[in-house]
Amino acid sequence: MIPFLDLKSINEQYRNELVKATTRVIDSGWYVMGQEVKTFEAAFADYCQTEHCIGVANGLDALTLTLRAWKELGLLSDGDEVIVQANTYIASILAVTENNLVPILVEPSEDTFNLSTTNINKALTTRTRVILPVHLYGQISPMAEIMAIADKHNLLVLEDCAQSHGATFDGMKCGSWGHAAAFSFYPGKNLGALGDGGAITTNDIKLADTVRALGNYGSHEKYKNIYQGVNSRLDEIQAAILNVKLKYLDDEICRRQQVANAYIANIYNPLIQLPKVTQQEEHVWHLFVITTEHRELLVQYLLENGIQTLIHYPLPPHKQQAYKAWNELSFPVTEKMHNQVLSLPMDPTLELSSVEYVIDIINQFSV
Ligand SMILES: *Cc1c(COP(=O)(O)O)cnc(C)c1O
Repeated sequence: MIPFLDLKSINEQYRNELVKATTRVIDSGWYVMGQEVKTFEAAFADYCQTEHCIGVANGLDALTLTLRAWKELGLLSDGDEVIVQANTYIASILAVTENNLVPILVEPSEDTFNLSTTNINKALTTRTRVILPVHLYGQISPMAEIMAIADKHNLLVLEDCAQSHGATFDGMKCGSWGHAAAFSFYPGKNLGALGDGGAITTNDIKLADTVRALGNYGSHEKYKNIYQGVNSRLDEIQAAILNVKLKYLDDEICRRQQVANAYIANIYNPLIQLPKVTQQEEHVWHLFVITTEHRELLVQYLLENGIQTLIHYPLPPHKQQAYKAWNELSFPVTEKMHNQVLSLPMDPTLELSSVEYVIDIINQFSV
């Protein structure tokens, strides 16, 4: 069986270093808010070309705490509108509603699955305060154009980089374009810990300080609480693991790009539409997502041939029970995507022979 993603084999590559790093933490006797987190925050800020990085417990908290910090800083208030693509993973939306802000769902670009400037412009109202571009599947959004809209209308931009660590647009990394960015280090992400983890990057020192306090019970200084904060911190042991894996992130992106290039160059089955990409550096291939009108048949056929696939995602946020009030809303582009998308095996440890096998089997698919 060719697995969709083999986390064990990914982490196996670094076993010796990971064991050394975790042993170092165990032996240090210091497990929360210590040197490993400090080292990682500096290294990841550097990697993302930003001044600050704040480790938090997961990607959802990174999004939620950033919006919350903007509220604490007086930049946002209840009922303000946040423009976000309707086809995103639900976490992007949960962070908005958790803060009593209003998600304005917009259709994505059919070519990229990401926000399009046309649809952002159509969604602007007097209550719009934030644009939340999600660099879905690993492809960076059109950030130069998005920042131009934000400048013109005095909006904040929060990048959801949970799927796009390292993606670059015009030489600038994702996470450095917006006023802030949220990252996830969930094990299956391109930079994955061995458990949950997340981070916020920003060049805004005030935001950085506020987020750091909010994630630490609302406190800058022990036993002095200025906000009603939460406990959301990156553990030392996860930071130690991330310190190892960050060194290899660019290599792994390169291998993902090789897999994607092979798929793109060699899959020619007319029943399948390949993902579109304008510049390779814009895409770090967290997922390789094709679309097809024959998804059910294709999934079954691939499974019979020993190839595992997944669907990202089967149901859009506005159709979820969690958001009952939106269930009747209509987003035809988004809904069509959710009916047609299929993620092929995408893994930096995938053997070339396996990639060739997947290509071969897909090209033989017929209905
Ligand atoms: C994974 C993900 C998140 C949430 O990250 P967690 O660490 O799982 O909380 C947010 N947004 C997107 C687009 C994601 O893929």
